[in-house]
Amino acid sequence: LLETRGLNKRFGGLQVTSDVDLALEAGELHCLIGPNGAGKSTLFRLILGEFPPTSGAVFYDGQDVTRLQPHERIRRGISVKFQVPGIFASLSVAQNLEIALQHHLAGHGLRGEVRRLLGFLNLAGAAAEPAGNLSHGQKQWLEIGMAVSLKPKLLLLDEPTAGMSPEETRATGEMVRALNRDGVTVLAVEHDMAFVRQVATRVTVLHFGRIFAQGSIDAIVADERVAEIYLGRG
Ligand code: ATP
Ligand code: MG
Repeated sequence: LLETRGLNKRFGGLQVTSDVDLALEAGELHCLIGPNGAGKSTLFRLILGEFPPTSGAVFYDGQDVTRLQPHERIRRGISVKFQVPGIFASLSVAQNLEIALQHHLAGHGLRGEVRRLLGFLNLAGAAAEPAGNLSHGQKQWLEIGMAVSLKPKLLLLDEPTAGMSPEETRATGEMVRALNRDGVTVLAVEHDMAFVRQVATRVTVLHFGRIFAQGSIDAIVADERVAEIYLGRG
């Protein structure tokens, strides 16, 4: 479904991604891990097209989308939940979902889908609350809901469990697995290895902007070279 070919991104003198060849089959639930500053969020922005790569290409659904604008890629089914929340804090949880859904639904269909999403996101009890009043974990769920409302084929999640309790993290894992069972291919940046173990069908380790290792979660955890890059930062 997705293939990056030799993706390089330089910011001035800083090489942030180097020759990234990442291929995702449809149906995968792929986790991207790596130390802070490894280039994970940058890779997401390259896949969405927020800035052009210094060199390399992005193929999606069999087509070269390297020159397509983000909104064109979103229309083709790529959706992102970013690391930094983008919800409307003063609007209610339900209104946030309505805004996300209003492009393709109206009236009865819109209200039904908002209700369905509120249930799926464990946010039914908070529907009328201003989104700014939600806990950190609930905000992340709302963000996931807004990303999912676009009915993506490929969902990119940047640290979906950041700041969550173990219970919230586990519930998020169940959510993401349910989406994946419904046919959504997922690429998730994640630091929580319990989450990775819970959901990942395959794992890629990014280190200094390069693909450092790739494989099953068991293979990655057993890889001493991977352990070293984490120990290396204390
Ligand atoms: P984290 O785990 O902390 O989220 P990350 O793997 O997502 O890290 P990135 O956010 O992709 O890492 O950043 C990788 C490097 O690129 C960092 O050194 C960062 O400072 C730099 N960088 C990211 N965006 C820009 C930008 N727009 N301009 C200049 N440098 C940038
Ligand atoms: Mg990041």
